[in-house]
Amino acid sequence: MSTIPAKAFGTEAPDAPLKQMNIQRREVTAKDIEIEILYCGVCHSDLHTARNDWGGTVYPTVPGHEIVGRITKVGSEVTKLKVGDYAAVGCMVDSCRTCQSCEHDLEQYCLNGFVGTYNGPDKHLGGRTFGGYSEKVVVDEHFVLKVPANLDLAAVAPLLCAGITTWSPLRHWKVGKGSKVAVVGLGGLGHMAIKLAKGLGAEVTLFSRTPSKEKDALDLGADTVIISTDDSQMGSVKGKFDLIIDTVPYIHDVNPYVATLNISGTLVLVGYLGGLEPILNSVPMILGRKSVAGSLIGGIAETQEMLDFCGEHNIVSDIEIIQMQDINEAYERLLKSDVKYRFVIDMASLKG
Ligand code: NAP
Ligand code: ZN
Ligand code: ZN
Repeated sequence: MSTIPAKAFGTEAPDAPLKQMNIQRREVTAKDIEIEILYCGVCHSDLHTARNDWGGTVYPTVPGHEIVGRITKVGSEVTKLKVGDYAAVGCMVDSCRTCQSCEHDLEQYCLNGFVGTYNGPDKHLGGRTFGGYSEKVVVDEHFVLKVPANLDLAAVAPLLCAGITTWSPLRHWKVGKGSKVAVVGLGGLGHMAIKLAKGLGAEVTLFSRTPSKEKDALDLGADTVIISTDDSQMGSVKGKFDLIIDTVPYIHDVNPYVATLNISGTLVLVGYLGGLEPILNSVPMILGRKSVAGSLIGGIAETQEMLDFCGEHNIVSDIEIIQMQDINEAYERLLKSDVKYRFVIDMASLKG
C-alpha cells in the first residue's frame, strides 16, 4: 500500500521525552479522508499511553485523539465531507462495523475491539496507529465528524474526547432538567462534564481536592463546590445525587461519593482503570439500590450529537494553546493538575 510521510511527535520508551519523528500515513483509499491537523487536545490518556501506565503501549507511540483540521484529500467513494471542509477525529479510527455493538452505534464497545486513534492495531499498514500529534492523518469517513461552523476550532478539539466521554453517561443515565449531577475532579473531563450537564439543565456540583478551583468551577457553571477532603462539606450532600461522574485518573476511595448518591443513583467511573481500594462497600448500594458503573468515550453518532449540541448551546472547552515542542512540560503540568482546563497543541508549530 502506498504511503505518504508525515512529521509527528512521539516517544520511543515510557521514560523518554516526546520528540519529533517521521511516520507514514496511508494514501487515501476509496472511503478515506486525509486531514491536515490544525489543533490537537492533550488528554490525560495521552500521558498514560506515552508512559505505559496501562501496559500495552507499543513504541514508538504518537499520542493525540482530540483532532480538528481541514480536509486535504478524499477517496472516490467519500460522501460525508469534501476537500476544504473542517473535520474532527476522536478516540477511534475503526471498528468491525458488523457486531451487535457496532450495529447499535456503540463502536466504542465493538465486540471485536475498536481501533484506537493511537496504539491501536493498524490493519492497513501493520503495527500500531499513530495519533494526532502530527501534521496529518488519514481516517475512514465513518469515523470523521463534522464541526459546527460557529465554534472556535481550537476549543472544539477537546470535545472529541473530554466532551464525548462525559456526554455519553449524561445521556445514558437520562440527565435533564431537575437532575442532580456531581462531577469528581476539575480537569479536562471534569470541566466539560460541568458545562454539558448544565447545558442539559441539571443542577451541578463539583467535588474537588483543590479549594483554589472553586471560583473557576462556579464560573464554568457549577452551582455548588464541595471540597472532598472536608468531612462536614461531604456530609452536607449525603443522599443528594442522581448521577456522579468520577474523572479522577488514579486510585482513590469511592465509598465517600457513594454515600452522596440518592436512592437508585449511579456513580460512573470514567477516569481510573483498575481494582478499587479501599474495597467498595456493598451495604449502602444494597440499602439504597445504588450503582457503581463505568463508561467508555461514546459512539460516532453520539459524538456528532454532542458536537451539534455544543454548536447550538455555544459550548467549547476552556483551553491553553501550546506549541508542539512544549508537550513534555505540559505533561508535567498535567500531573500537577496545573491546566485550565485543557492544553491544545497548535499544530502549525510542528510544520515551522
Ligand atoms: P486531568 O485533566 O488531569 O484531570 C483529572 C482531575 O482529577 C484533576 O484535575 C484533579 O482535579 C483530579 N485528580 C488528579 N489526581 C488525583 C488524585 N490522585 N486524587 C484525586 N483527584 C485527583 O485528566 P483528564 O484528561 O480529565 O482525564 C481524567 C481521566 O479520565 C484519565 O485517567 C484519563 O485517562 C481518563 N479518560 C477516560 C476516558 C473514558 O473513555 N473512560 C476518556 C478520556 C479520558 P481536582 O484538583 O479538582 O481534584
Ligand atoms: Zn482522551
Ligand atoms: Zn464491532
